[in-house]
Amino acid sequence: MKKLLAIAAVTFVATGCASSTRPGAVGVTRQQTLWVSSEKVDKIAADSYLQMAVQAKMQGKLITQGPEYDRLKAIAMRVKAQANTFRDDADAWHWQFALINDPKINAACAPGGKIILYTGLPRTLHLTDDEVAVVLGHEVAHALREHGREKLSQAMLKNTAVQIASVAAPGAAGTVGLANQASQLLFTLPNSRQNEVEADQMGLELAARAGFDPRAAITLWQKMATASQGKAPPEFLSTHPSDASRIESLSALMPTVMPLYEAAHRR
Ligand SMILES: [Zn+2]
Repeated sequence: MKKLLAIAAVTFVATGCASSTRPGAVGVTRQQTLWVSSEKVDKIAADSYLQMAVQAKMQGKLITQGPEYDRLKAIAMRVKAQANTFRDDADAWHWQFALINDPKINAACAPGGKIILYTGLPRTLHLTDDEVAVVLGHEVAHALREHGREKLSQAMLKNTAVQIASVAAPGAAGTVGLANQASQLLFTLPNSRQNEVEADQMGLELAARAGFDPRAAITLWQKMATASQGKAPPEFLSTHPSDASRIESLSALMPTVMPLYEAAHRR
């Protein structure tokens, strides 16, 4: 255990203070605590993604063709094609897209570029292409910015630390259980407010650069807010609170991102 802590401490010194992304036009520059290696986090995320996709497939819920799939995947691919704005290695990521036929109003992009979209989101909220691009941009931004890795790193600091560190030791007893724990942390811990702001900013830039109207962010969050007053509030809102300040900050970004959108259409 001492040895693990020592290794972790060295890693911490090496990568403890860094920024996973370039600032972009929106200027996200916060220094991050990144303790766990991105390789490990990406592996956990890839395993979880595969598990979710396989489960959906077994339940007959995985959509892999048809006009709805083509439309949504095309939007996702246009958004992710802009990811190199923020980091060079994004082009080399093994990007994947899963569309799950489920009324859940939710979407995610796991570390390493694994996009998951539930049909409930575009169908229930009747999302336009621009609105889909904004929500996927937000999720892709979480992945680029390695917010999942940051969450795991913070959990480590709070002393679930040693457990997660031991996932690192290949072949260690109980590795599977620990990997599950880490995966749960990755997918269920809500992001901090700061992380949400960053994902909003970067996501908006990704959508605009991909040629989608960033003003759709306003109508997207208005739709979310309206849906939250219904009987079944969107799952998405449990980790992404919709409030007036979010819409205000997004509106304030329009002068920065509208020129990128217009430039995309001049090309
Ligand atoms: Zn978010």
